[in-house]
Amino acid sequence: MRERNIDSRLNWTNNMNYTNLIKTSLPHLIDNGTISFSVPLSRHSSFKIGGPAEIYCTPTNQAQLIELLVFCLRKNIPYFILGRGSNLLISDKGLPGMVINTNAYTKITKDDNYLSAFCGVSLNDLCDFACEHGLAGLEFASGIPGSVGGAVYMNAGAYEGEIKDVLYCSKCLSPTLESLTSKNPIIHLKAAEHEFAYRYSALQSKNLIHLSSVFKLFPDSPESIRKRMDALNKQRWDKQPMDLPSAGSVFKRPEGHFTGKLVNDCGLRGFRIGDAAVSDKHCGFIVNLGKATADEVLLVIRHVQRTVSERFGVKLQTEIRMLGDISVDNFDVSHPVSVESLQHSPGSNLSTNFKAARTTHGIPQPQTPRPSTFVVHSAEKQETHLKPNMAESTPNLQTHLKPNMAESTPSLHPQPKRNSVSPKKQSNHET
Ligand SMILES: Cc1cc2nc3c(=O)[nH]c(=O)nc-3n(C[C@H](O)[C@H](O)[C@H](O)COP(=O)(O)OP(=O)(O)OC[C@H]3O[C@@H](n4cnc5c(N)ncnc54)[C@H](O)[C@@H]3O)c2cc1C
Repeated sequence: MRERNIDSRLNWTNNMNYTNLIKTSLPHLIDNGTISFSVPLSRHSSFKIGGPAEIYCTPTNQAQLIELLVFCLRKNIPYFILGRGSNLLISDKGLPGMVINTNAYTKITKDDNYLSAFCGVSLNDLCDFACEHGLAGLEFASGIPGSVGGAVYMNAGAYEGEIKDVLYCSKCLSPTLESLTSKNPIIHLKAAEHEFAYRYSALQSKNLIHLSSVFKLFPDSPESIRKRMDALNKQRWDKQPMDLPSAGSVFKRPEGHFTGKLVNDCGLRGFRIGDAAVSDKHCGFIVNLGKATADEVLLVIRHVQRTVSERFGVKLQTEIRMLGDISVDNFDVSHPVSVESLQHSPGSNLSTNFKAARTTHGIPQPQTPRPSTFVVHSAEKQETHLKPNMAESTPNLQTHLKPNMAESTPSLHPQPKRNSVSPKKQSNHET
């Protein structure tokens, strides 16, 4: 059984080699470090799983992003927009075509009670910035290891809060040649136009690329905000396997149930195939105990889905997004699977395995809450092609609110950019 093209925007079955085409057509973007080749995506996924991206790009401004997209559309090259890679399972075979990582597209701007952030800003940096400037409302998001773009796209949420509660408006691109080559390619979305629902935004169905958003917050003391963020982070570290590579909750919450309880009640706590295992700390998470492959993770997912369905009649749907050619060919999942028959090291002590995995990943042993910080052990900083500065201006509120939004918001007077920082420079909390 093969699983392909789960993300609707992709056509990964196309096995053409695009490297030479890029080398001859976009040398300026190679020379300035925006494009590199054959970059392991395991370095850019919180699961630490994924083969090479044939072409890997880190645009630092809107013009570069548009240039890359237009090139892909003209040449029929498949592309994928990658945020912090914290909600993805990527094939070990890698991805042909272009992966466009937004990580270098970062800037936060403050205007009164509003914060504007580019898509590549990490949520943790945004939360820290809000806290330092005495703006409350984003505490729920502190500890979610995604980017602003990924969080808006997914309507990320936790602890009774969701992006939809604080989002004021966004700027997006529509990836069509007609739109991208038009005089004004920016699409402005008001809050309601995102059509937010549980882990859903209209960006998914409308195939939009997120550029930046404005968040409407409210004043509070930095001390109180920090206290709330620390308390939520502590809860996270107490209840979730933050010390092992994962992609967070694998499944969407089924109505009327808790995934973790269903999985636990099926006896699947610690269920393991190869190095992919149901977390011993939170049964809604699958963790990478060392060298897990995407195929192994998928097999654990399918086994959990099937077992929960048979036992409780509940269909678990995946929240994580799967990319590329992920296969469960090597395993027979058409018959009941016993934990013993599939565990690579049957009889081995489960907690020893989890402990060993933490050592393998150079991760401290658990029970050490990391207030306000989440560490995805990403190799982002090692990439020499990441550039610190953006030539482009920050997403100022005036531009966002054109043409008719500013009218309804008296507090948004045109103001010079102030408190505009690059979060990378400002914070040590880069994931
Ligand atoms: C330990 C852990 C805990 C987590 N806890 C939570 C939680 O409490 N709540 C929660 O909601 N999630 C949680 N997650 C999941 C994840 O962090 C969120 O879904 C996050 O919003 C994904 O953002 P990202 O930048 O990593 O996106 P990615 O994983 O890189 O991408 C996810 C999807 O978003 C799309 N995307 C990313 N950027 C853009 C853009 N600029 N424009 C268009 N599309 C884009 C991608 O194409 C992809 O389809 C957790 C993950 C981990 C590893």
